[in-house]
Amino acid sequence: MALALRLPFQGELLSTILIEYLAEEQVVGRYAFLRSILNCQPSSLVSMPRGLKRLSEETRDYWQMTATDIAIRLTCMPYHIASSSPETAASALAIVENGPSQMQNARELVFGCNPDTMYLRFCRQCISERRKQGRRPYFQREHQLPGVAACAEHGQVLTISTLRASMLHVANKKELLDVFSGGQDACVKYTRDRELQVLWEMARRSKDALHATPASYFCIKERYRQQLAERGFLCEDGSLRLDEFSRAVVDYFGQPYLSWLKLCGSKRETQDWIGALLFRSHVTPPTIAHILLQQFLATDTRHECKDAESYGSWQPGSYWSVDWERRDALFLAALKDAANKIRAEEPARRLTSKSIQLTSKLPGWMHHHFKKLPRCRGFLEEAVESAEQFRARRAISM
Ligand SMILES: [Zn+2]
Repeated sequence: MALALRLPFQGELLSTILIEYLAEEQVVGRYAFLRSILNCQPSSLVSMPRGLKRLSEETRDYWQMTATDIAIRLTCMPYHIASSSPETAASALAIVENGPSQMQNARELVFGCNPDTMYLRFCRQCISERRKQGRRPYFQREHQLPGVAACAEHGQVLTISTLRASMLHVANKKELLDVFSGGQDACVKYTRDRELQVLWEMARRSKDALHATPASYFCIKERYRQQLAERGFLCEDGSLRLDEFSRAVVDYFGQPYLSWLKLCGSKRETQDWIGALLFRSHVTPPTIAHILLQQFLATDTRHECKDAESYGSWQPGSYWSVDWERRDALFLAALKDAANKIRAEEPARRLTSKSIQLTSKLPGWMHHHFKKLPRCRGFLEEAVESAEQFRARRAISM
């Protein structure tokens, strides 16, 4: 049986072609059909297909692509294997041709964000331009990459469709078109130009990674270390100034984007991915980790090393150790300074725990650690004003 799939569009995701085919041909027993031609679960199709030989044979009359060609051109696989070891990249490519087998080091490839569990994303402007040209809408593979929240071409925030990457199912043609009319914006509420620019640059960088050579990001630790050292984020003994680095990363990318990547919580903004990029580790960092660091390093963000500002450092093995007493003293000085600044403001502004913390520019996670920061907690309790106290102070200053 030859499978009459239409020719793929530029940058199209294999999934769209199959969804469309299943809907238009009204295939009965869709899962059995997919299993028979794909020899793999549909959920693996977006990023790491396994066993596309049969699909390559069935579509030979129309596509003339080998299983590897299909994986390289129509899935996100090249992005993922760009960061794996040469051995893992080679076995991932062999599996595409030869079908599933016990893959060694498979953990390398699934570490990090797993796009298979997500809903497929699209750019409204891409779809609208295609409609104007009389072309049908489709999902692009570059929009399904782990860190991509915006369109590399238009810069606008992507829309998350209602279609699960693993489902490959809509009831009919109309329902497929409806998918592109609905959906909701990716949960990154950025409106300012600088923030949108960051999303855009992440999208462009991720798109470049789709065309990277397998394993080309593997083992570039030294280059990263050198660049971080030049920017003042490494201590003399080679350990990372994790506090300073985390703050700079959150400042640069913004919390909403890091949360969207599921990198949030105390130190998780960086701790989840930076260690494996810089130090010997049993996990291979996923491509998204490289893209984040490369994007960060493309800016001129620097940390000016002053001993008093060094709250602690992170070394391989020791993971994370903090001198909380010292940090308590340093944070206290910053809080006092912030409270004085607010008191000097015209018009008068009320001293609240939040206004003091925001003005101090201390990391937002500090309030989770008040138990370990008794002097900071004590100071804030004393410094915050009740509404009455604030009114009284304002009356005097007027
Ligand atoms: Zn677009």
